[in-house]
Amino acid sequence: MSHITQQVTLASLTQPLNPMIKLGVVLAAVGSVASLVPFIGIVEMNKVFINPEQGASWSEVQPILLAIASALVIAWLFTVVGFWITHLADHKMQSNLHRALVTKLGQVPLGWYNHHTSGSVRKAVQDDLDDLHHMIAHHQVELTCALALPLTGLAYLVYLHWSLALLAITSLPFYMLAYAWMMRGFAGKMQQLDQMFNKVSSAIVEFVHGISVVKIFGQTGRAHANYKRAVDDFSKQYSGWIKPIVKVEAIASLALSVPVITLLTISLGLSLIDYFALSVLDILACTLVAVSIPQSVITLNQGLSAKQKSDAAAQRINNLLASPDLPKAKQPQTPKQHQVIFHQVNFGYDSDNPVLRDINLSCPADSITALVGHSGAGKSTLAKLAARFYDVTAGSISIGGIDLRDIDNSELYQQVGFVLQDTQLLAASVADNLRLGDPSADQEALVRVAKHACIHERIMQLPRGYDSVIGEDAIFSGGEAQRLSIARTLLADTPILILDEATAHSDAKSESLVQQAISSLIRGRTVIVIAHKLHTISHVDQIAVLDQGQLVELGTHQHLLTLNGHYSKLWQDACGEDQVDPTAIRANQ
Ligand code: ADP
Repeated sequence: MSHITQQVTLASLTQPLNPMIKLGVVLAAVGSVASLVPFIGIVEMNKVFINPEQGASWSEVQPILLAIASALVIAWLFTVVGFWITHLADHKMQSNLHRALVTKLGQVPLGWYNHHTSGSVRKAVQDDLDDLHHMIAHHQVELTCALALPLTGLAYLVYLHWSLALLAITSLPFYMLAYAWMMRGFAGKMQQLDQMFNKVSSAIVEFVHGISVVKIFGQTGRAHANYKRAVDDFSKQYSGWIKPIVKVEAIASLALSVPVITLLTISLGLSLIDYFALSVLDILACTLVAVSIPQSVITLNQGLSAKQKSDAAAQRINNLLASPDLPKAKQPQTPKQHQVIFHQVNFGYDSDNPVLRDINLSCPADSITALVGHSGAGKSTLAKLAARFYDVTAGSISIGGIDLRDIDNSELYQQVGFVLQDTQLLAASVADNLRLGDPSADQEALVRVAKHACIHERIMQLPRGYDSVIGEDAIFSGGEAQRLSIARTLLADTPILILDEATAHSDAKSESLVQQAISSLIRGRTVIVIAHKLHTISHVDQIAVLDQGQLVELGTHQHLLTLNGHYSKLWQDACGEDQVDPTAIRANQ
């Protein structure tokens, strides 16, 4: 079986739908051309009515009326069916694209989410898909209709007399000139506006996030002033640009308004009757075609700006689809043991800046290894590599002697669980959040893990207990959310655990409960813990000291103190902090 999967792109998803879109376009074009027939019918009928010799006879009028009625039905039917087909194509494309995006989001390395905010993912999966709707369901059909009707009309006028076609578009050059004037430097101005709008958004976020601090320090007016300044700048820029445009737009729209076009066509037309040997009915035909042109111009304008928006959305979706997948194991293997070995591991988030260099570290099965070091030393990065958030640049990481890259992803996450600091809870019931760890777990199992994680009592205080929905009838503090996440990890029961030790919990009781929960969690597992407070890990099996991406010391707390090196220095620095430690993380018994 080949492991090279075809790259999904937007084009590859829309290509199979092209025949549907083309059919929709052809039908809508026919509908659009048919909508001209009533205009021609009116002219023909007038010819019959003003014939001085015969007068109007029913037998002459009847076929014209029939043609008008049929054309109206055809125009309506073909246009509606045309749009229906392109909407069907869009529906298919949207569901294929949804599937492709969700598959892609499941295949990118977990580390990818560190570089992409949930907002940007939501934008691609929701807003950008909405913007694409225009491209598939509307753009080509509307463009075709907007061109087909006036072009057929002009062709009919040319058939009557070429001067009529020119007459019908007399006011168009004025509009075009005005439009070109309004649109000069459009891209640059939009960019400036975008930047200013971003400033307004940042000012709002800053204001909302910092509102409590701002209020405490009585600086509400000052924070508000930042927001006000950003809004004022935006509105100054916007009105400076838009005011003259509005004036020209009003004049340009006047040039394309039905009364002006009617007056212009009739008065100019009548003055040309003798010169070009035209009839009054020719002028009537010309006027009817001329008044249909403005709507087409407006549709074209709106269509082109919507197209720009959907092109940008398509570009973002293509970028997302092109994100590299986590390479799949060629011959997946299942680890039978649970020691984790880092062998000459090198890693950098980009090729220019190595973050980890030549790390050799063996974490025996059922032991606890604490990673310590200054901020930025590479502790989180090393721990995340063990959960394959990223692949190593050089060297290898193995579980039970099997390289992580040879373990199937789903198997890997049955082996490795992690509790990170920024706990993610879904807007679902507490029970559903816990069951992410094990979808088949019964209520008894949920209660058992919640008790171990010291969160059962808190859950029972909620209005609907385990069925309470997070965000609706359950709001958890940071420490409580972390204990819930520990309960979830307990349920998943993975033999290896990556733990980012909690740092900032509001009070000592909360911190002690989290530590108690962690103690339940780590029992009998291979644990790699990122330690922020040294006193909590002084009893673990081994402490790995990282400095500037290198492993500089390794051993027990006592041993490392005797070295009088990096760890000893870190310990002395930490000695100023609170060392009372009833629930420290201890070595596995
Ligand atoms: P620690 O956990 O010891 O504080 P980290 O592993 O978080 O250290 O960071 C190690 C280095 O990698 C730092 O220089 C940090 O700036 C960089 N780094 C961390 N995460 C990323 C990321 N997602 N993208 C780029 N650089 C990163």
